[in-house]
Amino acid sequence: MKTYKIAVLKGDGIGPDVVNCAVDVLKAAAEKYHFQIEFTEGLIGGIAIDEKNMPLPEETITLCQTSDAVLLGAVGGPKWDNQSVRPEAGLLGIRKALGLFANLRPAIIYDALKQASPLKSDIIGDNLDILVVRELTGGIYFGKKEKGDDYAMDTMKYTIPEVRRIAKVGFEAAMIRDKRLTSVDKANVLESSRLWRRIVNEVAINYPEVTLNHMYVDNAAMQLVKDPHQFDVIVTTNMFGDILSDEAAMITGSIGMLPSASLAEGKMGLYEPVHGSAPDIAGKDIANPIATILSVAMMLKYSLDEQSAASAIEDAVNKVLEEGYRTSDIARKGETTVGTLEMGRLIKENL
Ligand code: NAD
Repeated sequence: MKTYKIAVLKGDGIGPDVVNCAVDVLKAAAEKYHFQIEFTEGLIGGIAIDEKNMPLPEETITLCQTSDAVLLGAVGGPKWDNQSVRPEAGLLGIRKALGLFANLRPAIIYDALKQASPLKSDIIGDNLDILVVRELTGGIYFGKKEKGDDYAMDTMKYTIPEVRRIAKVGFEAAMIRDKRLTSVDKANVLESSRLWRRIVNEVAINYPEVTLNHMYVDNAAMQLVKDPHQFDVIVTTNMFGDILSDEAAMITGSIGMLPSASLAEGKMGLYEPVHGSAPDIAGKDIANPIATILSVAMMLKYSLDEQSAASAIEDAVNKVLEEGYRTSDIARKGETTVGTLEMGRLIKENL
């Protein structure tokens, strides 16, 4: 029987609430699909500052580096807001230590939650499911910066290997989805985008089954709200991905539902909900655990190659929503709600 090593970093606030649920669901999936998981907990964020005086202890880095994947809750909270060492430094540190260069954020609208979307229902249609693949370690956020008395500048630079490896992630993701990839750039103006486009076209030769198209970022921003169904996977640079992934997320309308994956070369990945530590609701059994449970499904898909178990979790989430169960963040006025633990239990039961 296959055994996977998973590092579990619960972090702060609702991190422990939602990660505990997701671990339970993952255990149930392992049992059903006949693989084993060894979970090892590590400290990160505010709790690591409290216990070890640093947001990312060395042993946490080693634990993650020797695991097959990492499950993370969230970090931060008012308790640490005025300290010189911030919990968020733990997040940046672990991303760097693991070499996570690709950020994957799906935006899925469950039919049962269509009313939460700010878009009209005829635009949302059925089964809207977009994946934004964002380059995470290059581009304008990391290029040379300069400031003078009357100017400031940032540099957008991409190397061929950087574009090649993120393009590959985009195509691989498309291969296990609907086999459609949109590469977003600004090749009419930017030299780095012209290189991006050339390399994406080169990588495409290895993926003849994937339909590739190119789109300028300004048009992509419009098309996302005009006709989101035209997209399956979007692959783009760091800055464009930052903006478009938030836009795509807002189409779904519910922060408690959004998972994410950050991938390194090979199979290593860090999986976490998009939301933060929500200190206002921590420990009260009201946080929505679905974003973290869907992050576990992504882990099964992208790091562990357990596609059936991943789909089973996604189907179980869908079923529970179809049956009308809601945590308070996704409930409409008058709808009865369930707590964090009950939502986790229902999803497990539906596996
Ligand atoms: P947040 O995402 O924590 O919360 C925003 C709002 O959404 C709050 O009202 C919260 O109650 C609600 N919410 C978030 N997740 C929810 C869930 N699963 N179920 C139900 N409701 C949910 O963002 P914030 O308030 O801006 O930040 C709070 C703390 O989290 C800060 O310390 C911030 O630095 C940190 N943060 C961490 C991460 C991360 O760890 N990746 C990301 C964003 C913010």
